[in-house]
Amino acid sequence: MTSPVPFVQSPPQLGNQYSDDAFLRSWLRRKLPPEVLREVESHFDAMGQLAGGELYELQLQDRLHEPVLTQWDAWGNRVDRIEVTPLWKRAADIAAREGLVAIPYERKHGHYSRIHQFALAYLFHPSSDVYTCPLAMTDGAARTLMVGGNAALVDRAIPHLTSRDPAQAWTSGQWMTESTGGSDVGRSLSTARRDDEGRWRLHGKKWFTSAITSQMALTLARPEGNLPGGSGLAMFYVETHDAAGALNHIRIERLKDKLGTRKVPTAELVLDGSIAELVSEPCNGTRHIEPMLVVTRTWNSVTSAAFMRRGVALAKSYAAQRSAFGASLAQLPLHADTLAGLEVETRAAFLLAFELVELLGRLEANEISDSERALLRILTPIAKLITAKQAVAVMSETIEAFGGAGYVEDTGLPLLLRDAQVLPIWEGTTNVLALDAVLRGDFVSALAALTDRFVQLHSKLQQQPLIDQMQLAIDALDQVRQWQVRNRDAAALQAGARRAALSVGRAWQLMLLIEHAHWSAEHDNDASAAAAAMRFAATPINLLADLSPDDSLELLR
Ligand SMILES: Cc1cc2nc3c(=O)[nH]c(=O)nc-3n(C[C@H](O)[C@H](O)[C@H](O)COP(=O)(O)OP(=O)(O)OC[C@H]3O[C@@H](n4cnc5c(N)ncnc54)[C@H](O)[C@@H]3O)c2cc1C
Repeated sequence: MTSPVPFVQSPPQLGNQYSDDAFLRSWLRRKLPPEVLREVESHFDAMGQLAGGELYELQLQDRLHEPVLTQWDAWGNRVDRIEVTPLWKRAADIAAREGLVAIPYERKHGHYSRIHQFALAYLFHPSSDVYTCPLAMTDGAARTLMVGGNAALVDRAIPHLTSRDPAQAWTSGQWMTESTGGSDVGRSLSTARRDDEGRWRLHGKKWFTSAITSQMALTLARPEGNLPGGSGLAMFYVETHDAAGALNHIRIERLKDKLGTRKVPTAELVLDGSIAELVSEPCNGTRHIEPMLVVTRTWNSVTSAAFMRRGVALAKSYAAQRSAFGASLAQLPLHADTLAGLEVETRAAFLLAFELVELLGRLEANEISDSERALLRILTPIAKLITAKQAVAVMSETIEAFGGAGYVEDTGLPLLLRDAQVLPIWEGTTNVLALDAVLRGDFVSALAALTDRFVQLHSKLQQQPLIDQMQLAIDALDQVRQWQVRNRDAAALQAGARRAALSVGRAWQLMLLIEHAHWSAEHDNDASAAAAAMRFAATPINLLADLSPDDSLELLR
């Protein structure tokens, strides 16, 4: 008797991540003028090819590599050198050459430049082992320096931060979090004092510093004599190395041993008299560093959607190849229903993230109206918080869509879930962002501007299902408004802020799906756009509940 031929399952395949993504291409056709799209499309195509080909292969081969910190050389000198992984080196080269940070500063296509940049980043991110972390901070630092208006620092750093030459390109860190708190940075203990030569010297310990291989960082420290709290902190510019290549009085204590983002070297570091320059005034640092957060939260939103797209692309490919009960998984109605749910959450996250991208582009090109400015203000925290939560949920479901294989490390799949789990934590946790969105005085006016936008779209719609779905989104916003009016008590407002922010986010996503379906019906006749709106409308949009903060305390007692 011959033994049966062993069964070997073929793995999921990735193709060109641009040409395979019909939804992305449709959205770009809708948003970019044809002449702009013609000019940039070859870049998208090349990045899509890299992401689904060479970079993806390298990522799988590179799976076990991690950054290595060498603190001492053979002769006992403290060196604190970090060697990053092979994929990170390749990613750094590609990022500079493709202008992943440079594009919005070159601003060749006006406010569309942000769309150009972030569509490339969206394609690049899932195959980059989160190299987008230093890119986000670099972009944020460039924007913050430009807004800060310190001409000497702009002249010194911007040409490097936005260089397309890998030998000249710098990345930047953002050193804010201390062990006293990342959310409440006003508690930071780092100090700044002038030395005998009048230079600022920083002392303190920064507890989470990613991109520690960067050439510079923006950081916060309290000039001696300043008041406690965030307003007493000042924003400083620090170069990590001196001209001879020695560390700028910085000690890297250790690299964090993290759940995910393990290719990102995240360090604890001590500033032991690091020479720094004040970016603007010697106080109000938490306010001055805000432009950085607007940019990094936009990157977070785009990379959340990008992770989701990768999960869905892999799960769809696998579903076509894997069989069960006499059919491919793709043909099993419940598996297809499950994947369709992931596809719709991915589109919703994409649309909200790129709504933020568009508004950021308009802001930078000085083409933003007052109501758009109000929308940008609340969208920044809301897009970040909701897309990050969606990414974790979709990555978890992606793992399950592979069955046991999804749980096995050398498929490269578990990494997706672990990496996605950082998205709701860094750049502001869900709760902190929800409070930022909902508790500020301008929330009410932003909600009014958003309602206007919803009502305008409603008046243009002609197909009944879309009209009904749009009414659902309008009603959800109205319920948030009523909730806010009803709850004047600070504790109740805080306790419900996450539910309120998520409700606004889901209503906004529904509106964007409807808007795209409306456009698609007239321009590319893609039935999936209306199906996406329909399916999303069937999920909970309004998440509000009148729950008592006292009951929460009771439950925790
Ligand atoms: C991989 C990784 C890399 C990082 N890289 C960097 C970096 O490069 N630079 C940098 O500066 N930081 C970095 N961070 C730090 C990150 O920004 C902080 O961890 C984050 O802001 C949260 O701060 P915390 O850890 O001090 O948590 P805490 O602020 O202690 O929060 C703990 C919990 O309390 C909740 N909470 C806090 N305040 C409130 C409130 N008012 N109401 C309700 N809930 C609240 C939070 O939502 C959270 O769930 C990194 C973190 C990670 C995981």
